Amino acid sequence: MSKNIHLGHQAKKRFGQNFLHDESIISKIVDAINPEPGENLVEIGPGLGALTEPVIERAGDISVVELDRDLAHRLRHHPFLAPHLTIYEDDALNFDFAKLASAERPLRIFGNLPYNISTPLIFHLLTFKDKVKDMHFMLQKEVVQRMASGENCKAFGRLSIMTQYQCQVLPVMEIGPEAFKPAPKVDSAIVRLIPHKEIKNPVKDIKALNTVCLAAFNQRRKTIRNSFKKLISAEQLIGLDIDPTLRAENLSLDTFVKLANFIVDNPVDIT
Ligand code: SAH
Repeated sequence: MSKNIHLGHQAKKRFGQNFLHDESIISKIVDAINPEPGENLVEIGPGLGALTEPVIERAGDISVVELDRDLAHRLRHHPFLAPHLTIYEDDALNFDFAKLASAERPLRIFGNLPYNISTPLIFHLLTFKDKVKDMHFMLQKEVVQRMASGENCKAFGRLSIMTQYQCQVLPVMEIGPEAFKPAPKVDSAIVRLIPHKEIKNPVKDIKALNTVCLAAFNQRRKTIRNSFKKLISAEQLIGLDIDPTLRAENLSLDTFVKLANFIVDNPVDIT
């Protein structure tokens, strides 16, 4: 039998399928999520139900978003899980998570995410942060490091800034490849994201923050004098009290906010 067959299902690479099978790790992850009865839990990519089942045991009914139609079909006919699931056979990248939330029932989103789409998926999920209580994700360890990294680190970049601007980022634990079938080639980690209730130093437009990050980290070894050339001149950087000879990774989140607000107030046509 192929080592990629798990519970009679052939894992599909294009859907980033690496199924958890280590019971002690599964229970540690569920403890970290800490699902409580009646909460509005939403799982992305339930797969064969490794996390789904113990979460349902603690929380009751949950919603799941699964793209693979074979897996969605299995879940729909699962004797224990099916009665407790609202199944959305859909692409999480385009899914409107807001429709599952209400003011009284903010979302608690979790999942062992498909690693091939994890960064765009995180960016998509962050757009719903006002409806979210918290999120727990299994990601490639390196992605969690990038999310959690502060300035002056190699891993600091657009993902760090966009995530930390909107959420508290708490790495929870690291998990080796052997916990999965098939085993991925990379190490994994669980991260907890808690959206900030209030942003102390807000940007005027979050798109501007993204624009500044893209320009800054497009060629991260360049000085910001060069990388911001089209957006902000060296003189303007000095006017903002920012040293133009620094590199993007030396700038704090607050400095990125300052730069974003500057380009909102001083727009340039870069087309
Ligand atoms: N939660 C399971 C499976 C994780 S593998 C476990 O831990 O064992 C990743 C899961 O995400 C698979 O079920 C895969 O089919 C699903 N998936 C992949 N791309 C998806 C997408 N774009 N939207 C929703 N689910 C997706």
